[in-house]
Formats: sequence, C-alpha cells, structure tokens
Amino acid sequence: MRICTIPGDGVGQEVIPAAVRVLDALQSGLEFVHADAGFEHFQKTGDAFPDATLETVRACDATLFGATASPLTRVEGYRSPILALRRALDLYANLRPIQSLPGAFSRPNLDMLIVRENTEDLYGGRERAEGDGVTIAERVITRRASERIARIAFEFASHRRKRVTVAHKANVLKLTDGLFRETCFQVAREFPQVRADEMLIDTMAMRLVTNPQDYDVIVTTNLFGDILSDEASALIGGLGVAPSGNIGASNAVFEPVHGSAPDIAGKGIANPIGAILSAAMLLDYLKQNDAAMRVRRAVQRVLEFGMLTRDLVSDGGQAGVSTDEMTRAIIQQL
Ligand code: NAD
Repeated sequence: MRICTIPGDGVGQEVIPAAVRVLDALQSGLEFVHADAGFEHFQKTGDAFPDATLETVRACDATLFGATASPLTRVEGYRSPILALRRALDLYANLRPIQSLPGAFSRPNLDMLIVRENTEDLYGGRERAEGDGVTIAERVITRRASERIARIAFEFASHRRKRVTVAHKANVLKLTDGLFRETCFQVAREFPQVRADEMLIDTMAMRLVTNPQDYDVIVTTNLFGDILSDEASALIGGLGVAPSGNIGASNAVFEPVHGSAPDIAGKGIANPIGAILSAAMLLDYLKQNDAAMRVRRAVQRVLEFGMLTRDLVSDGGQAGVSTDEMTRAIIQQL
C-alpha cells in the first residue's frame, strides 16, 4: 500500500515524520511518497498546492497530511491546500474522534465522534464587500451534502452506542440549518436502532464542557464542527493529541486537528500524538485494524508512564519531553 505524506508547514514538518517512523516500525508493508504543499512551498514556487501533489494523492491508497499555514489576509494566488484537497477529492466527511487518554490532562470516560460536514457551509470562500463597511459571506447548505454526512454519522453510531445528536442553529438559520436538521431526521428513519436527538449549537458547546460523557456521535455543519471539535479536543489534552480523518467515496486524508503552530515550530517540542493517532485512523481505513490497535495501545502505555510533551504538562514542575523522545517511546511500546 502506498501512503502519500504531506508535512506542509510549521510543526507539520515535525509531527508527520514522527508518525511515519511509527508506521514504518510496524513493518506492515507501507510505502511512503512525499508531496509538497503549503505556504512555505508557495513562497518558494508561487504554488501552494501543485498539481503533482494532487496526482500523488490520487495515486496513493491514503494520505497523511500535517498542517499548512494560511495568512489572515488575502494573498494573491494563495489557496489553502487542505481546503483544495477536500474539494478536489470530495472528502465530504470529517471524522474527529474524542477519546479519553490516560493522564490528569484528560477527562475520563469519553468516547465520542464528531462528524463534521466538510464541503460546504461558509468554506466556499464566497465573500464580497457591498458598499462601504458592508461585507457578505455566502453560507451554502444542500440536501445532498446534509444527507450523505447524516448517513455516515448514523452508520458509525449503529456500530457504537447508537445515538446521534444533530447540532445546529435552525432557530436562527431557519432555511440553511433548517434544511440540514430536516435532512438529518429524514436519514434517521433509515436507522431505527439509533436514537436521534438534537441540540442548538450554543447549548451543545456548553454541554460539551459540562456533560461530554453523555454524547456518542455528534453530526453538524462545517464551521460549527470545526469549532466544536477544537473545543472537544481540550477535554482530552488539547490540539496536540486530537486526530482526524477526511473521508470521501474513494480516497481519504488523515491529519492532526491542529494547525502549523508557528509559536512552537522548529523547537522540537510539538506533540506528535495527534499525528500518530491520525496514522492509526489511516490504518483502520486500510483495514489494518490490528496495527491501528497496536499504535493506540503504545500511545496509551507511554502516557500511563507519565511521559508528557510540554503541552500536556499541567503542574509546571516538569519540562516535558521532546517530539523525538515521545516518538521513540511510542515505537518502543508497539
Ligand atoms: P494551531 O493549531 O496551529 O495552534 C494553536 C495552539 O495549539 C498553539 O498554542 C500551538 O502551540 C498549540 N499546538 C498546536 N499543535 C500542537 C502540537 N502538535 N503540540 C503542542 N502544541 C500544539 O492554531 P493557530 O495558531 O490558530 O493557527 C496557526 C496556523 O495554522 C494558521 O495559519 C492557520 O490557518 C493554520 N491552520 C491549519 C490547519 C490545517 O492545515 N488543517 C488547521 C488549523 C489551523
């Protein structure tokens, strides 16, 4: 099997090689093909997401992506590689599991899956200025996209604790989130064994802090899912440990939830666990479930020993181990 690796910018260049070392150590016959993308590549070549990268991703069985930096203001010719990749391959489902990890930094007894619609909502980039001081962004929600994201959420839930919570803001966004909500409950009828309920997104954000253990699968639109999953990652130790997968009908890209982390990039202290657990999701996708389990167990054991990178250290008494030390310890435990 061939895996395309796109480290991208910042800590992506540290955590993706770490995840590749772990996959390599499993000796499960994976072959790795490097591809370029990101702001650094854009500055060097004028192209943030070369056609050759897309071709490599298409030719591989799955992709491991690090992170890319996106400037806050418009830069002529720059496009976000991950958004371009999601669009080009129609990676419509963004799966963001939140599972407790051993350690004081994580809440116990959490096992939830946030299923985020990945192709529409406010991410189409259709913004315009109208007159002076007025800006408008288009929010697109379609029945087709809502239907397929709902279906994948219910399918996952039917193999889990059999509950889907539809998170939306249909009380205000009556047309767009109204359609999303209505479609989710239509799909729910195909899954009588799964309990479907709903929650307004603001209440959902609050309940994630007060009662996160109550939830199994949460399905929501693109922007809400983006925010909710970063919030949920804080329950298990933060962005450094949170994995994700972008799934389409015939391709998939796995990436840590975090971005390029310019504040710590190049220091060798980034937590590689988010990337390594994303690699475990990739193994599951390739149906190498035993290998995926070995990776997850190795991560758990290392954390049980109290080996922590700086982002997970809470008492200030410990300096935290480096990216390399954490990676080596995980490989030793495989
Ligand atoms: P970020 O996720 O890069 O960082 C947020 C905080 O989390 C920072 O304090 C950072 O140090 C910490 N952090 C992130 N990853 C960590 C790790 N592996 N180990 C330890 N600590 C970690 O978010 P940001 O600072 O808001 O964004 C930085 C850049 O990343 C922006 O240009 C943004 O557009 C981009 N971004 C890209 C993606 C992606 O490529 N999918 C996702 C989010 C943000």
